[in-house]
Amino acid sequence: MKFAETSYFFEQKRWYQLLKIKKTEQIQLDYSDTTSLIEPTDIDLKDKKFVTVGLVALDQYGNLAAGTSTGGMTNKKFGRVGDASIIGAGTYANNKTCAVSFTGHGEFFIRSLVAYDVSALMEYKGLSLVDAAHEVVIKKLVTVGGEGGLIAIDTKGNITMPFNSGGTYRGFMKSDGTKDILIYK
Ligand code: ASP
Repeated sequence: MKFAETSYFFEQKRWYQLLKIKKTEQIQLDYSDTTSLIEPTDIDLKDKKFVTVGLVALDQYGNLAAGTSTGGMTNKKFGRVGDASIIGAGTYANNKTCAVSFTGHGEFFIRSLVAYDVSALMEYKGLSLVDAAHEVVIKKLVTVGGEGGLIAIDTKGNITMPFNSGGTYRGFMKSDGTKDILIYK
């Protein structure tokens, strides 16, 4: 594949966000700080295409797939490995159960192996996709303080997209044409 110049990935909003969070020596989710969106020199929102993206899919043969791409946490330590690339943490698919992609505070996802946990609750405890996802995102993660949410689809094409944060950009489309796009609850 052709490599892009580093400048290709530059985004004014994220630059402001980084400068701001660096002063506090903390790390932060890219969508936690909405105030950076209203900086005066901010560029047009249509140009914002470099954010965390997760996807899950079920094909006509019953194959499930999940993928996650992220820039990680803002102001993360150099060399940090996030949850997105760790199968079972932020991303997981199993033709017996479901496909899952997470977004949110990755350290908690790695510790609790959350994407695999959703699948395991379905496989070993017989939970539905909706119940398994609710158990992990709304109960387990909230108990340990992990902010975030998931998108998931099961072998029957059921879809769930719970989150324990203020909102998350999400959408779905089914083969019959049913579709939706959402941000808040
Ligand atoms: N999960 C990602 C990470 O911790 C962040 C995100 O979802 O935006 O690296």
